[in-house]
Amino acid sequence: MGEGFDGRIERLRERMVRARVDAFVVTHPANIFYLTGFSGDTGALVVERHRAELFTDGRFTIQAREELTGRVRPRIVAGGLLGAVGRAVGRGKARRIAFEATRMTVAERCRLGRAAGAGRPAKAGRRWVAAEGWIERLRAVKDAGEIEAVREAARLASRVLEEVLEQVRPGVREDELAAELDYRMRRGGAAGPAFETIVASGARAALPHARASSKRLRKTELVVIDMGAILRRYCSDLTRTVYLGRAPERIRRWHRAVQEAQAAAVESLRPGVRAEAVDGAARKVLRGFRLERAFVHSTGHGLGLEIHEAPRLGRHQPEALEAGNIVTIEPGVYFEGVGGIRLEDDFAVGASGAERLTTVRQGILEL
Ligand code: ZN
Ligand code: ZN
Repeated sequence: MGEGFDGRIERLRERMVRARVDAFVVTHPANIFYLTGFSGDTGALVVERHRAELFTDGRFTIQAREELTGRVRPRIVAGGLLGAVGRAVGRGKARRIAFEATRMTVAERCRLGRAAGAGRPAKAGRRWVAAEGWIERLRAVKDAGEIEAVREAARLASRVLEEVLEQVRPGVREDELAAELDYRMRRGGAAGPAFETIVASGARAALPHARASSKRLRKTELVVIDMGAILRRYCSDLTRTVYLGRAPERIRRWHRAVQEAQAAAVESLRPGVRAEAVDGAARKVLRGFRLERAFVHSTGHGLGLEIHEAPRLGRHQPEALEAGNIVTIEPGVYFEGVGGIRLEDDFAVGASGAERLTTVRQGILEL
């Protein structure tokens, strides 16, 4: 992977050259991992045109040596990390220095600036450049190894859900099911759930981001289960909706609408299509069922090292999809006091269409 990490840093440098940036201070852990392979939770990476250094503290000396397989040099510092980074870039020749504007607090940015200027008159012409999404844009296009990692994470979550569906029955508590899903994902090799597992039944299923509660499942209820695993650092994300009993016609119609909306969005997935057009494809189907007002979120999101990343498949997202994007497609309909239905699968965008990575059975689940 060494060459892979260095290649990623080279692509960041191309972006830096275009923006006439001499140094980039990377502080977001997922971005540091993506560029270097370092997985410690404390670090700052300084990428310059001809060198890259990872600042971290003594707790990570061994880990940094083991994980930094590319040309990035570790630099162990005592005391404040950003102070050390600021002093280092302050001593150097860099005039335009980028930082991750969406990942740094105002206090951190001030600390960095103060340290860079400490003990010397403000260097003429030094500029701090607020960079947004530079590395995230690179991360949105996955290489073959990353796609394989998400594929495995998706298979694990799918297998675990299939197993636990056998325990979904009236009387069991939502949080028992969530614990069972988390436990089995860990047993299957996951570092943990990719987010707090959702099991929402009855009227609670109308809350798209409900937490699993101590409520017990009852007959004739809808149950939304939304879960994912982190495996080899990559996330998966999938949702199925169960009906406890034989679903009445109204529920079947809602389920059919969501399933057709998902299929239409998947059908539209290919390089070059605008993200908002994928969202629009799902929305159009729901409009045909007169359910567009019940669809209260966007159609999907990218996933990879983090559970939500670029590209976003929602309204007002004109950016074009690229081969190598991995996205969820997850339309849903929600009715206050009644419940909700959501279906979510993960897809890798390839040259000629989408590959489904999740493997759970489809169709309405009547248990
Ligand atoms: Zn989800
Ligand atoms: Zn999702």
